[in-house]
Order: sequence, then C-alpha cells, then structure tokens
Amino acid sequence: MDFGTAHGQDVAEQAGVYKTLLESTRAIPWKIDWATMRFAYIGPQIGELLGWEPGSWRTVDDWVARMHPDDRDYVVNFCVSQSKAGVDHEADYRALTQAGGYVWIRDVVHVVRNADGEVDSLIGFMFDISERKRAEEEVLRLHKRLEMLSLTDGLTGIANRRMFDQRFQAEWNDARRSRKPLSLVALDIDYFKQFNDGYGHVKGDECLQRIAHALKEIARRPRDLAARFGGEEFILLLPDTSPDAARAIAESCVQAIAGLRIPHAGSEAGDAVTASLGVGTVVVAAESQPVDFLEAVDRALYAAKAGGRNRIETVPGTPAP
Ligand code: GH3
Ligand code: MG
Ligand code: MG
Repeated sequence: MDFGTAHGQDVAEQAGVYKTLLESTRAIPWKIDWATMRFAYIGPQIGELLGWEPGSWRTVDDWVARMHPDDRDYVVNFCVSQSKAGVDHEADYRALTQAGGYVWIRDVVHVVRNADGEVDSLIGFMFDISERKRAEEEVLRLHKRLEMLSLTDGLTGIANRRMFDQRFQAEWNDARRSRKPLSLVALDIDYFKQFNDGYGHVKGDECLQRIAHALKEIARRPRDLAARFGGEEFILLLPDTSPDAARAIAESCVQAIAGLRIPHAGSEAGDAVTASLGVGTVVVAAESQPVDFLEAVDRALYAAKAGGRNRIETVPGTPAP
C-alpha cells in the first residue's frame, strides 16, 4: 500500500482504509472538538459495548452522565485539567450501559493542538478492561484471603501467634501514647499431655477448639484479641483494661473452661479439663519493652502451675486500678 501519493482518489481510498481499520478494532476511537465540547466522532463499536448508539454521544456531558457516580469527580477533574494543560493522559472508570450495568473502561486520550499550539481537539481510544479489572479484583481477594490465613490458627480458627505479635506491638504503642492500661491473660491447659495420652490426639484437638471458641467469646470488645500462642497455650490481649477488669476476665476464662466439663481422668487438678493463668497489666513507660511484660505474664502463669494449677496468678507489682 502506498500512502505517499495524495491524488484525490487515493486520499479517499486511504481514509476508507483508516476508517475500516479503526472501526474493526476492539478499541473504540472517538474525537471531541475542544471549542464546542461536542463529539465529532465515536466508533460504532460503542453500541456493542455499552448499548448506547453512536448518535447518542453528543457532548462531553453525555460522557460524564454515563459514568459511575463514584468515578465521576475524580475522572472528570483529572481529564479536564490534563487536557487544559495539553497533556496526553489515560483514565480508568466504569461506564454505564444502556441496560443499567457498568463496564470498566480505560480511556487513552491524546491532545491535538493547532498550528498556534492551542488545544484543537481530543482524540482517544476506549478500551474494555473489565476482564483485567476482574483479574485484579480476584488477585486482591486472594491476597486478602492469604493474609487472613497467615494470621489465623489452622486448628482453632482464632488468631495465631503472628497476629498476636502484630497486634500486641500495635496496642503497646497505642498504650504508650494514651497512658491507658494494657492487660494480658496467658493461659495454659493443665496436664494436656496426659489428656492426649488418655483420649487421643483427635479428642485433644477438639478440646483445643472448644477452649479457643470459649476464649474468643470472652475477648469480645472490638480491640480485644484471643490468640493461640502455641500448642495448648492461649493469650488474651486486652487494651484499655484495668487490673480488676483483667482479673475478672481471667476468672471468666476459668469458669468458661469449667463450664465445658471436658472429662479428664488423668488430671491431678480435677475430673475435668482446667487451665492455669497468668494476668498482668501495664501502663506503658517510655523505656519499657513489650517482651519484658510478656515474660512477666508468663512467669505469673508458671507460678500458677507451681501453685497447684487450675488457678490465676497476677504479675507482682501490677499497678493499682
Ligand atoms: P502442664 O499442666 O504443666 O501444662 O502440663 P502439660 O501436659 O499440659 O504440658 P506439656 O507442655 O508437657 O504438654 C503439652 C501437650 O500439648 C503436649 C502436646 O502433645 C500437646 N499439644 C500441643 N499442640 C497440640 C495440638 O495441636 N493438638 C493436640 N491434640 N495436642 C497438642
Ligand atoms: Mg504448655
Ligand atoms: Mg499445659
């Protein structure tokens, strides 16, 4: 094909070739006259994609009106400012279909200037990017799910150690700023090795699940967290919780576990499954470290074990309420 010789017939032929090319691609071409803000042209493909006939695209107002309300402000402001500045640009938005649905569109815009350098018109292509958007949303959804899974304990479905570590650090920082008391309740099931030995691992798993569920019910304020710390150990993170309130929550845990009445013949602490608990509360000082507080609560837990199990011990020197 030779586009170089511009005789009348060649020009017409050439324009025909261009038109055929433009109107047979999946991208939808369009042109807006800058002075009047009217569509000088829009490819017939628009009818197939959105249902609105080419003739119904008269001015930029039609374009604005057929845009999702949530996308409108940003997209219109962006496109107008870029066009005024004479800068080529692109924007993604949801275009309204005649049937009342939406299609994700990428509009790629070229600013055409006249010989004096003034904006003469805008020409562009609309691309149907709904497939790409769907794929992006799917990736985002999978990413969120993966993140959720990575923070959840597989056996019990409550938060895992990783989630606890993250939230504990965040609440620690918050407690330092707010000067509000931060409490922890650490809990370890008594004679659990004997439980597994006596009833088997499946029953052991079931016991862990039931206790996890009970603890989750207790740590029920929005910022509370019940987590499986490891094996048969659990921990409750209790922001903005006084020593008295933390103690009361620990007692609720003891009662809830007793209420489950899970038989445990091999226990030396009773006929049913019990736990030992350590409780502590801090008002975070600038120089103190979360790990030291966690260790203090753990020492209280082991004091409860040493004291005969099925009991609660409090970190010594816990601030008065
Ligand atoms: P203590 O009263 O001193 O806490 O003794 P214990 O037997 O509970 O403690 P120990 O640390 O000796 O044993 C913990 C047991 O918990 C051993 C381990 O098999 C069991 N365990 C840890 N994770 C799981 C689990 O996911 N499922 C089951 N069924 N058992 C588990
Ligand atoms: Mg243990
Ligand atoms: Mg134990």
